[in-house]
Amino acid sequence: MKVIKFGGSSMADAKQFKKVANIVLSDPERRVVVVSAPGKRGDNDTKVTDLLINLAGTVRDGGDVSAALEQVVGRYAAIARDLKLDRSIVDTIRADIASRIENRNPDFVRFLDCMKAAGEDNSAKLMAAYLNSRGHKAEYVDPKDAGLFLSEEFGNAQVLPKSYELLKKLPERDSIIVFPGFFGYSENGDVVTFSRGGSDVTGGILAAALGADVYENFTDVDFVYAANPHIVDNPFPIPLFTYEEMRELSYGGFSVLHEEALAPVYSLGIPVNIRNTNNPDAPGTFIVADDKAPKSTFPVVGIAADKGFMTIHVYKYMMNREIGFGRRLLQILEEEAVSYEHTPSGIDSISIIVREANCPPEKLERIIARIRDSLGVNSVHVVKDQAIVMLVGRGMTKSVGIAARAAEAFNRAGININMINQGSSEVSIMFGVEAKDAKPAVKALYEEFFD
Ligand code: ASP
Repeated sequence: MKVIKFGGSSMADAKQFKKVANIVLSDPERRVVVVSAPGKRGDNDTKVTDLLINLAGTVRDGGDVSAALEQVVGRYAAIARDLKLDRSIVDTIRADIASRIENRNPDFVRFLDCMKAAGEDNSAKLMAAYLNSRGHKAEYVDPKDAGLFLSEEFGNAQVLPKSYELLKKLPERDSIIVFPGFFGYSENGDVVTFSRGGSDVTGGILAAALGADVYENFTDVDFVYAANPHIVDNPFPIPLFTYEEMRELSYGGFSVLHEEALAPVYSLGIPVNIRNTNNPDAPGTFIVADDKAPKSTFPVVGIAADKGFMTIHVYKYMMNREIGFGRRLLQILEEEAVSYEHTPSGIDSISIIVREANCPPEKLERIIARIRDSLGVNSVHVVKDQAIVMLVGRGMTKSVGIAARAAEAFNRAGININMINQGSSEVSIMFGVEAKDAKPAVKALYEEFFD
Protein backbone atom coordinates (compact mmCIF):
# COMPACT_ATOMS: atom_id res chain seq x y z
CA MET A 1 0.00 0.00 0.00
CA LYS A 2 1.26 3.45 -0.91
CA VAL A 3 0.58 6.79 0.71
CA ILE A 4 0.77 9.44 -1.98
CA LYS A 5 0.94 13.17 -1.41
CA PHE A 6 0.44 16.01 -3.88
CA GLY A 7 1.78 19.50 -3.28
CA GLY A 8 0.21 22.86 -4.10
CA SER A 9 1.48 23.08 -7.69
CA SER A 10 -0.09 19.66 -8.37
CA MET A 11 -3.46 20.98 -7.18
CA ALA A 12 -3.28 24.43 -8.77
CA ASP A 13 -6.01 24.04 -11.41
CA ALA A 14 -8.29 21.55 -13.17
CA LYS A 15 -5.51 20.42 -15.52
CA GLN A 16 -3.41 19.50 -12.51
CA PHE A 17 -6.36 17.79 -10.75
CA LYS A 18 -6.72 15.56 -13.83
CA LYS A 19 -3.03 14.64 -13.73
CA VAL A 20 -3.32 13.83 -10.02
CA ALA A 21 -6.36 11.61 -10.59
CA ASN A 22 -4.61 9.80 -13.46
CA ILE A 23 -1.58 9.13 -11.26
CA VAL A 24 -3.72 7.88 -8.37
CA LEU A 25 -5.86 5.66 -10.58
CA SER A 26 -2.93 4.18 -12.49
CA ASP A 27 -1.87 2.11 -9.48
CA PRO A 28 -4.34 0.24 -7.21
CA GLU A 29 -1.82 0.40 -4.35
CA ARG A 30 -2.25 4.17 -4.17
CA ARG A 31 -4.94 3.97 -1.52
CA VAL A 32 -4.35 7.02 0.65
CA VAL A 33 -4.02 10.39 -1.07
CA VAL A 34 -2.89 13.48 0.86
CA VAL A 35 -3.48 16.82 -0.83
CA SER A 36 -2.30 20.39 -0.40
CA ALA A 37 -4.32 23.51 -1.06
CA PRO A 38 -4.23 24.81 -4.64
CA GLY A 39 -0.88 26.50 -5.18
CA LYS A 40 0.39 28.99 -7.74
CA ARG A 41 -0.65 28.56 -11.39
CA GLY A 42 2.27 30.68 -12.54
CA ASP A 43 4.92 33.06 -11.29
CA ASN A 44 2.59 35.96 -10.51
CA ASP A 45 -0.17 33.90 -8.93
CA THR A 46 -0.99 33.56 -5.21
CA LYS A 47 -1.36 30.30 -3.28
CA VAL A 48 -4.79 29.65 -1.77
CA THR A 49 -3.14 29.41 1.66
CA ASP A 50 -1.83 32.96 1.24
CA LEU A 51 -5.27 34.14 0.06
CA LEU A 52 -6.73 32.60 3.23
CA ILE A 53 -4.14 34.31 5.43
CA ASN A 54 -5.05 37.56 3.72
CA LEU A 55 -8.76 36.85 4.26
CA ALA A 56 -8.20 36.22 7.98
CA GLY A 57 -6.31 39.53 8.24
CA THR A 58 -9.12 41.32 6.40
CA VAL A 59 -11.66 39.92 8.87
CA ARG A 60 -9.54 41.07 11.80
CA ASP A 61 -8.97 44.54 10.35
CA GLY A 62 -12.58 45.05 9.28
CA GLY A 63 -11.78 45.28 5.54
CA ASP A 64 -13.75 44.12 2.48
CA VAL A 65 -14.37 40.53 3.56
CA SER A 66 -16.65 39.52 0.70
CA ALA A 67 -14.06 40.45 -1.96
CA ALA A 68 -11.33 38.52 -0.13
CA LEU A 69 -13.69 35.56 0.38
CA GLU A 70 -14.66 35.47 -3.30
CA GLN A 71 -10.98 35.44 -4.27
CA VAL A 72 -10.59 32.15 -2.40
CA VAL A 73 -13.88 30.64 -3.52
CA GLY A 74 -13.11 31.71 -7.10
CA ARG A 75 -10.07 29.42 -7.17
CA TYR A 76 -12.16 26.38 -6.25
CA ALA A 77 -15.04 27.47 -8.49
CA ALA A 78 -12.75 27.58 -11.54
CA ILE A 79 -11.47 24.08 -10.79
CA ALA A 80 -14.99 22.70 -10.20
CA ARG A 81 -16.27 24.33 -13.41
CA ASP A 82 -13.41 23.01 -15.56
CA LEU A 83 -13.82 19.53 -14.08
CA LYS A 84 -17.57 19.75 -14.79
CA LEU A 85 -18.47 19.06 -11.17
CA ASP A 86 -21.85 19.91 -9.75
CA ARG A 87 -22.02 23.62 -8.81
CA SER A 88 -23.36 22.72 -5.39
CA ILE A 89 -19.84 21.82 -4.27
CA VAL A 90 -18.78 25.46 -4.71
CA ASP A 91 -21.67 26.58 -2.53
CA THR A 92 -20.58 24.06 0.09
CA ILE A 93 -17.03 25.44 0.00
CA ARG A 94 -18.23 29.03 0.29
CA ALA A 95 -20.48 28.08 3.21
CA ASP A 96 -17.62 26.28 4.92
CA ILE A 97 -15.27 29.27 4.79
CA ALA A 98 -18.04 31.71 5.72
CA SER A 99 -18.89 29.62 8.77
CA ARG A 100 -15.22 29.58 9.86
CA ILE A 101 -15.42 33.40 9.83
CA GLU A 102 -18.83 33.52 11.50
CA ASN A 103 -17.89 31.15 14.33
CA ARG A 104 -14.33 32.42 14.71
CA ASN A 105 -12.29 32.16 17.84
CA PRO A 106 -11.57 35.64 19.30
CA ASP A 107 -7.92 34.58 19.60
CA PHE A 108 -6.49 35.51 16.18
CA VAL A 109 -3.81 32.81 16.27
CA ARG A 110 -6.49 30.11 16.58
CA PHE A 111 -8.71 31.74 13.98
CA LEU A 112 -5.78 31.98 11.56
CA ASP A 113 -5.01 28.26 11.78
CA CYS A 114 -8.67 27.43 11.25
CA MET A 115 -8.68 29.59 8.11
CA LYS A 116 -5.40 28.24 6.75
CA ALA A 117 -6.71 24.68 7.15
CA ALA A 118 -9.67 25.50 4.88
CA GLY A 119 -7.27 25.41 1.91
CA GLU A 120 -6.38 21.73 2.17
CA ASP A 121 -9.76 20.72 3.61
CA ASN A 122 -11.71 21.96 0.60
CA SER A 123 -9.05 20.78 -1.80
CA ALA A 124 -9.52 17.24 -0.45
CA LYS A 125 -13.31 17.48 -0.73
CA LEU A 126 -12.99 18.63 -4.33
CA MET A 127 -10.55 15.86 -5.23
CA ALA A 128 -12.78 13.19 -3.68
CA ALA A 129 -15.76 14.56 -5.64
CA TYR A 130 -13.72 14.53 -8.84
CA LEU A 131 -12.57 10.91 -8.39
CA ASN A 132 -16.17 9.91 -7.73
CA SER A 133 -17.30 11.79 -10.84
CA ARG A 134 -14.88 9.63 -12.82
CA GLY A 135 -16.59 6.53 -11.44
CA HIS A 136 -14.11 5.60 -8.73
CA LYS A 137 -15.06 5.24 -5.12
CA ALA A 138 -13.23 7.92 -3.16
CA GLU A 139 -13.90 9.35 0.26
CA TYR A 140 -12.82 12.59 1.93
CA VAL A 141 -11.67 11.88 5.49
CA ASP A 142 -11.74 14.54 8.19
CA PRO A 143 -8.50 14.45 10.23
CA LYS A 144 -10.66 14.80 13.34
CA ASP A 145 -12.60 11.60 12.61
CA ALA A 146 -9.40 9.81 11.67
CA GLY A 147 -7.69 10.87 14.91
CA LEU A 148 -4.88 13.17 13.79
CA PHE A 149 -4.15 14.97 17.06
CA LEU A 150 -1.50 17.68 17.25
CA SER A 151 0.19 19.73 19.94
CA GLU A 152 -1.35 23.12 20.69
CA GLU A 153 1.44 24.98 18.90
CA PHE A 154 -0.56 27.05 16.45
CA GLY A 155 1.12 27.40 13.08
CA ASN A 156 3.93 25.07 14.16
CA ALA A 157 2.30 21.94 15.56
CA GLN A 158 3.77 18.50 16.16
CA VAL A 159 1.95 15.19 16.03
CA LEU A 160 0.84 13.64 19.34
CA PRO A 161 1.94 10.00 19.65
CA LYS A 162 -1.62 8.69 20.21
CA SER A 163 -2.48 9.68 16.61
CA TYR A 164 -0.54 6.76 15.20
CA GLU A 165 -2.77 4.17 16.92
CA LEU A 166 -5.94 5.96 15.88
CA LEU A 167 -4.89 6.50 12.26
CA LYS A 168 -4.15 2.79 11.85
CA LYS A 169 -7.86 2.18 11.37
CA LEU A 170 -8.00 4.19 8.12
CA PRO A 171 -7.51 1.39 5.57
CA GLU A 172 -10.59 -0.44 6.81
CA ARG A 173 -12.52 1.60 4.23
CA ASP A 174 -12.97 0.15 0.77
CA SER A 175 -12.59 3.41 -1.12
CA ILE A 176 -9.63 5.63 -2.02
CA ILE A 177 -9.05 7.89 0.95
CA VAL A 178 -8.49 11.58 0.25
CA PHE A 179 -6.97 13.21 3.30
CA PRO A 180 -6.32 16.94 3.64
CA GLY A 181 -2.70 17.78 4.52
CA PHE A 182 -1.31 20.50 6.77
CA PHE A 183 -3.63 20.37 9.79
CA GLY A 184 -5.06 18.29 12.58
CA TYR A 185 -6.81 18.96 15.88
CA SER A 186 -5.64 19.76 19.37
CA GLU A 187 -7.00 17.72 22.24
CA ASN A 188 -9.27 20.71 22.98
CA GLY A 189 -10.79 20.42 19.52
CA ASP A 190 -9.08 23.45 17.92
CA VAL A 191 -7.78 23.25 14.37
CA VAL A 192 -3.98 23.41 14.46
CA THR A 193 -1.62 23.56 11.46
CA PHE A 194 1.94 22.49 10.94
CA SER A 195 4.40 25.10 9.77
CA ARG A 196 4.18 26.14 6.11
CA GLY A 197 4.58 23.31 3.63
CA GLY A 198 3.29 20.93 6.30
CA SER A 199 1.20 18.68 4.06
CA ASP A 200 4.45 16.76 3.59
CA VAL A 201 4.36 16.06 7.33
CA THR A 202 0.78 14.75 7.15
CA GLY A 203 1.89 12.34 4.41
CA GLY A 204 4.79 11.12 6.53
CA ILE A 205 2.54 10.56 9.55
CA LEU A 206 -0.01 8.58 7.53
CA ALA A 207 2.70 6.49 5.83
CA ALA A 208 4.10 5.63 9.27
CA ALA A 209 0.73 4.96 10.91
CA LEU A 210 -0.39 2.68 8.09
CA GLY A 211 2.99 0.99 7.61
CA ALA A 212 2.98 1.95 3.91
CA ASP A 213 5.40 0.24 1.54
CA VAL A 214 6.40 3.63 0.19
CA TYR A 215 5.53 7.28 0.74
CA GLU A 216 5.27 8.91 -2.67
CA ASN A 217 5.61 12.66 -2.55
CA PHE A 218 4.59 14.27 -5.85
CA THR A 219 5.83 17.77 -6.52
CA ASP A 220 7.01 19.68 -9.59
CA VAL A 221 10.58 18.49 -10.07
CA ASP A 222 11.86 15.23 -11.60
CA PHE A 223 14.42 14.70 -8.85
CA VAL A 224 16.02 16.20 -5.81
CA TYR A 225 19.16 17.85 -7.19
CA ALA A 226 22.65 18.12 -5.73
CA ALA A 227 22.30 21.92 -5.45
CA ASN A 228 19.62 24.54 -5.88
CA PRO A 229 18.99 24.84 -9.67
CA HIS A 230 18.49 28.59 -9.16
CA ILE A 231 22.12 28.83 -8.04
CA VAL A 232 23.87 26.13 -10.11
CA ASP A 233 23.01 25.42 -13.77
CA ASN A 234 21.77 21.88 -14.42
CA PRO A 235 22.87 20.37 -11.12
CA PHE A 236 23.21 16.59 -10.91
CA PRO A 237 20.03 14.71 -10.01
CA ILE A 238 20.19 12.51 -6.92
CA PRO A 239 18.57 9.12 -7.72
CA LEU A 240 18.87 7.73 -4.19
CA PHE A 241 20.17 8.90 -0.84
CA THR A 242 19.47 8.48 2.86
CA TYR A 243 17.14 10.04 5.43
CA GLU A 244 20.14 11.54 7.20
CA GLU A 245 21.41 13.19 4.05
CA MET A 246 17.99 14.59 3.16
CA ARG A 247 17.51 15.82 6.72
CA GLU A 248 20.80 17.71 6.59
CA LEU A 249 20.01 19.20 3.19
CA SER A 250 16.46 20.21 4.21
CA TYR A 251 17.88 21.84 7.30
CA GLY A 252 20.31 23.67 5.04
CA GLY A 253 17.53 25.08 2.90
CA PHE A 254 16.47 22.39 0.39
CA SER A 255 12.78 23.17 0.23
CA VAL A 256 11.62 20.21 -1.86
CA LEU A 257 10.45 18.40 1.29
CA HIS A 258 9.38 19.81 4.67
CA GLU A 259 12.17 19.47 7.21
CA GLU A 260 10.00 17.41 9.57
CA ALA A 261 8.38 15.12 6.98
CA LEU A 262 10.86 12.29 7.35
CA ALA A 263 10.70 12.03 11.15
CA PRO A 264 7.64 9.71 11.23
CA VAL A 265 8.98 7.27 8.59
CA TYR A 266 12.62 7.35 9.68
CA SER A 267 12.51 4.75 12.44
CA LEU A 268 10.27 2.43 10.39
CA GLY A 269 12.52 2.61 7.33
CA ILE A 270 9.64 3.42 4.95
CA PRO A 271 11.17 4.67 1.68
CA VAL A 272 10.16 8.08 0.40
CA ASN A 273 9.95 8.69 -3.34
CA ILE A 274 9.99 12.32 -4.53
CA ARG A 275 8.32 12.51 -7.96
CA ASN A 276 6.96 14.91 -10.53
CA THR A 277 3.22 15.24 -11.19
CA ASN A 278 4.05 16.81 -14.56
CA ASN A 279 6.32 13.93 -15.55
CA PRO A 280 5.09 10.84 -13.73
CA ASP A 281 7.26 8.52 -15.83
CA ALA A 282 10.43 9.88 -14.24
CA PRO A 283 11.47 7.52 -11.42
CA GLY A 284 12.24 10.40 -9.06
CA THR A 285 14.51 10.39 -6.05
CA PHE A 286 14.36 7.64 -3.41
CA ILE A 287 15.15 8.45 0.20
CA VAL A 288 15.94 5.30 2.17
CA ALA A 289 17.47 4.02 5.39
CA ASP A 290 21.25 3.95 5.58
CA ASP A 291 21.44 0.14 5.45
CA LYS A 292 19.33 0.10 2.26
CA ALA A 293 21.55 2.58 0.43
CA PRO A 294 24.47 1.23 -1.59
CA LYS A 295 27.87 2.57 -0.66
CA SER A 296 28.30 6.00 -2.17
CA THR A 297 30.95 6.37 -4.85
CA PHE A 298 31.07 10.17 -4.40
CA PRO A 299 31.95 11.79 -1.11
CA VAL A 300 29.37 14.57 -1.45
CA VAL A 301 25.72 14.08 -2.39
CA GLY A 302 24.46 17.66 -2.09
CA ILE A 303 25.25 21.23 -1.10
CA ALA A 304 22.79 23.56 0.60
CA ALA A 305 22.83 27.04 2.06
CA ASP A 306 20.38 28.88 4.25
CA LYS A 307 20.39 32.46 5.48
CA GLY A 308 18.76 34.08 8.49
CA PHE A 309 21.16 33.03 11.25
CA MET A 310 22.87 35.13 13.89
CA THR A 311 25.63 34.33 16.34
CA ILE A 312 25.84 35.34 19.99
CA HIS A 313 29.55 35.37 20.85
CA VAL A 314 30.36 34.99 24.54
CA TYR A 315 33.87 35.41 25.96
CA LYS A 316 34.97 34.77 29.53
CA TYR A 317 38.59 34.46 30.57
CA MET A 318 39.16 30.94 32.07
CA MET A 319 35.76 29.73 30.88
CA ASN A 320 37.04 26.19 30.42
CA ARG A 321 37.67 25.83 34.20
CA GLU A 322 34.18 26.92 35.22
CA ILE A 323 31.99 23.89 35.79
CA GLY A 324 28.40 24.43 34.68
CA PHE A 325 29.02 27.56 32.59
CA GLY A 326 27.59 26.03 29.41
CA ARG A 327 24.50 24.81 31.23
CA ARG A 328 23.85 28.19 32.83
CA LEU A 329 24.30 29.93 29.49
CA LEU A 330 21.95 27.62 27.60
CA GLN A 331 19.44 27.73 30.44
CA ILE A 332 18.93 31.42 29.70
CA LEU A 333 17.92 30.50 26.16
CA GLU A 334 15.68 27.74 27.45
CA GLU A 335 13.92 30.11 29.83
CA GLU A 336 13.40 32.58 26.97
CA ALA A 337 12.04 29.71 24.83
CA VAL A 338 14.68 30.22 22.12
CA SER A 339 15.94 27.13 20.36
CA TYR A 340 19.64 27.22 19.55
CA GLU A 341 21.08 25.58 16.47
CA HIS A 342 24.81 25.09 17.18
CA THR A 343 27.35 25.99 19.83
CA PRO A 344 30.89 25.92 18.45
CA SER A 345 33.34 26.73 21.24
CA GLY A 346 36.93 27.69 22.01
CA ILE A 347 38.83 27.52 25.31
CA ASP A 348 37.37 30.70 26.73
CA SER A 349 34.65 31.43 24.23
CA ILE A 350 31.42 29.95 23.03
CA SER A 351 29.25 31.01 20.11
CA ILE A 352 25.56 30.31 20.08
CA ILE A 353 24.01 30.19 16.64
CA VAL A 354 20.27 30.82 16.45
CA ARG A 355 17.83 31.45 13.64
CA GLU A 356 16.90 35.14 13.59
CA ALA A 357 13.26 34.21 13.09
CA ASN A 358 13.28 32.37 16.45
CA CYS A 359 14.63 35.29 18.44
CA PRO A 360 12.90 38.65 17.98
CA PRO A 361 14.92 41.79 18.90
CA GLU A 362 13.35 42.38 22.34
CA LYS A 363 14.09 38.79 23.35
CA LEU A 364 17.63 39.09 22.07
CA GLU A 365 18.20 42.23 24.12
CA ARG A 366 16.91 40.47 27.24
CA ILE A 367 19.11 37.43 26.60
CA ILE A 368 22.21 39.59 26.13
CA ALA A 369 21.46 41.52 29.34
CA ARG A 370 20.94 38.29 31.29
CA ILE A 371 24.20 36.79 29.98
CA ARG A 372 26.09 39.98 30.85
CA ASP A 373 24.52 40.40 34.30
CA SER A 374 24.40 36.85 35.60
CA LEU A 375 27.40 35.03 34.10
CA GLY A 376 30.24 37.49 34.77
CA VAL A 377 31.44 37.33 31.17
CA ASN A 378 34.10 39.66 29.71
CA SER A 379 32.16 40.27 26.53
CA VAL A 380 29.03 39.30 24.70
CA HIS A 381 28.11 40.52 21.25
CA VAL A 382 25.87 39.54 18.36
CA VAL A 383 26.70 39.18 14.68
CA LYS A 384 23.66 39.13 12.38
CA ASP A 385 23.11 38.26 8.68
CA GLN A 386 24.89 34.95 8.78
CA ALA A 387 24.39 31.94 6.51
CA ILE A 388 25.10 28.29 6.99
CA VAL A 389 26.45 26.26 4.10
CA MET A 390 26.15 22.49 4.32
CA LEU A 391 28.28 19.97 2.52
CA VAL A 392 26.44 16.68 2.81
CA GLY A 393 27.25 13.07 1.92
CA ARG A 394 27.54 9.75 3.70
CA GLY A 395 30.58 9.13 1.46
CA MET A 396 32.50 11.76 3.46
CA THR A 397 32.66 9.47 6.49
CA LYS A 398 36.29 8.54 7.09
CA SER A 399 37.27 10.18 3.78
CA VAL A 400 40.54 12.08 3.94
CA GLY A 401 40.88 15.61 2.58
CA ILE A 402 37.24 16.71 2.18
CA ALA A 403 37.49 19.70 4.53
CA ALA A 404 40.77 20.70 2.85
CA ARG A 405 39.14 20.67 -0.59
CA ALA A 406 36.18 22.67 0.71
CA ALA A 407 38.46 25.23 2.38
CA GLU A 408 40.44 25.56 -0.84
CA ALA A 409 37.18 26.16 -2.78
CA PHE A 410 36.23 28.93 -0.33
CA ASN A 411 39.73 30.36 -0.65
CA ARG A 412 39.54 30.47 -4.46
CA ALA A 413 36.18 32.27 -4.25
CA GLY A 414 37.56 34.76 -1.71
CA ILE A 415 35.00 33.76 0.93
CA ASN A 416 35.80 33.99 4.63
CA ILE A 417 34.69 31.00 6.72
CA ASN A 418 33.71 32.19 10.19
CA MET A 419 32.68 28.83 11.64
CA ILE A 420 33.22 25.16 10.83
CA ASN A 421 31.19 22.44 12.50
CA GLN A 422 31.17 18.71 11.95
CA GLY A 423 29.14 16.17 13.87
CA SER A 424 30.51 12.80 14.85
CA SER A 425 28.56 11.03 12.10
CA GLU A 426 30.66 12.94 9.54
CA VAL A 427 27.66 12.98 7.20
CA SER A 428 27.90 16.75 6.88
CA ILE A 429 30.29 19.65 7.33
CA MET A 430 28.75 22.99 8.13
CA PHE A 431 30.36 26.33 7.29
CA GLY A 432 29.30 29.69 8.68
CA VAL A 433 29.68 32.57 6.20
CA GLU A 434 28.22 36.04 5.78
CA ALA A 435 24.77 35.92 4.18
CA LYS A 436 26.04 37.69 1.05
CA ASP A 437 28.51 34.84 0.49
CA ALA A 438 25.91 32.03 0.65
CA LYS A 439 25.31 31.67 -3.11
CA PRO A 440 28.94 32.06 -4.18
CA ALA A 441 29.83 29.45 -1.54
CA VAL A 442 27.38 26.91 -3.00
CA LYS A 443 28.78 27.55 -6.49
CA ALA A 444 32.37 27.20 -5.32
CA LEU A 445 31.71 23.94 -3.49
CA TYR A 446 29.69 22.55 -6.41
CA GLU A 447 32.57 23.27 -8.81
CA GLU A 448 34.99 21.57 -6.46
CA PHE A 449 33.00 18.41 -5.80
CA PHE A 450 30.87 17.90 -8.92
CA ASP A 451 32.29 19.65 -11.98
N1 ASP B 1 -0.79 24.91 1.89
C1 ASP B 1 0.19 24.95 2.92
C2 ASP B 1 1.26 25.97 2.56
O1 ASP B 1 1.19 26.64 1.55
C3 ASP B 1 0.75 23.61 3.25
C4 ASP B 1 1.31 22.82 2.10
O2 ASP B 1 1.11 23.14 0.93
O3 ASP B 1 1.99 21.82 2.37
O4 ASP B 1 2.17 26.14 3.32
